[in-house]
Amino acid sequence: MKNTKDDFQYHQITVVVRMRPLNQVEIEEGVQCITYKLGEQMLLLKDPNEDSDDAWKANHSRQRTFIFDAVMEQYASQDCVYESTTKSLLEGIVSGYNATVFAYGPTGTGKTYTMLGMDGEPGIFIRTLTDLFRTIQEISDNMEYSVSMSYLEIYNELIRDLLNPSSGFLDLREDSKGNVQIAGITEFFTHNAEEAMVLLRKGNRHRTQEPTAANKTSSRSHAVLQVTVKHRSKANNVHDEVRVGKLFMVDLAGSERAAQTQNRGQRMKEGAHINRSLLALGNCITALSERGGGHAHHVNYRDSKLTRLLKDALGGNSRTVMIVHISPAATAFEESRTTLIYASRAKNIKTRVKRNYESATQHITQYGGLIYNLHREIHQL
Ligand code: ADP
Ligand code: MG
Repeated sequence: MKNTKDDFQYHQITVVVRMRPLNQVEIEEGVQCITYKLGEQMLLLKDPNEDSDDAWKANHSRQRTFIFDAVMEQYASQDCVYESTTKSLLEGIVSGYNATVFAYGPTGTGKTYTMLGMDGEPGIFIRTLTDLFRTIQEISDNMEYSVSMSYLEIYNELIRDLLNPSSGFLDLREDSKGNVQIAGITEFFTHNAEEAMVLLRKGNRHRTQEPTAANKTSSRSHAVLQVTVKHRSKANNVHDEVRVGKLFMVDLAGSERAAQTQNRGQRMKEGAHINRSLLALGNCITALSERGGGHAHHVNYRDSKLTRLLKDALGGNSRTVMIVHISPAATAFEESRTTLIYASRAKNIKTRVKRNYESATQHITQYGGLIYNLHREIHQL
């Protein structure tokens, strides 16, 4: 990487809230709606358990307004959500900046709907890939672009390559610069949106559970789609720099259990009933958001696979957008409240963003090192 300190720009994490509409069952059961969009950035969460007049008078109402970068109302279209969260990141990615978009929220609030979507209502994964190839085609400079993607799942702290599921569980490794790599992940080069779609569909079929199936298993797995865009001059000089922009798009597991555990102040435990990665994510968000206040909190990225993988997205070199999902239902009040409080914390997090370069010679050195290591491993066998 060729950077000086001056190349950094500070970015605040962008936090957007999306509330889903009441579903058919909720409507039939007469469930009350308690979330209201009050403006482009303001959301009101009513407490269904209190008589609002009395509570206001007594000044202990738990009704609360929250401010975010944007609030998407219940019937906001998929396109509208894409436009206000992800579209603006593309320009950066094609010119060598990293970005991350992740869907956060309890199970059943619409995270997979936002990221993956459904037939006829594609989500952020597909819209981004389509727009990415369109953007690259439109740029008529003397540059050459390559786009590659990988797709993985973290389930019970095990990483699986969704594009090559027979490869077993994969490990995370750090290279000499401290960058986290997924050892052995397949990276497919894609030349157009159609090819990317085929890979995405293939990957979805290999998720631990069909991602759209509303069941407990799917709610515990995190899906991470990584897209890497490299570009260099067509002149193809060995000394030319290659700009590298990476985009992570993440459909997280349901946040409810991690949030409950945190509320009770329990220490992190291993076990199938607690999602270690989400708990660690919550802890990282808390530690990072308190940093701004002059506290030097240690951020435990190493506590889980997810936080190791998202280290840059949270506290490092990435423009990051968090799409927070909530249910509008009165029955989900406590869950929505906890989620929104978390989300408000995340707003305080700043990342340090810089453009990424790789030089062609650096590639050669890297491969040299790799070959050397492989030789050593073979000889040790
Ligand atoms: P999660 O991934 O957060 O567990 P899902 O994306 O599976 O939740 O959504 C749960 C259900 O609600 C699905 O049937 C989904 O189609 C529906 N849904 C979610 N968000 C919306 C929305 N904004 N508009 C319409 N239906 C939605
Ligand atoms: Mg889901």
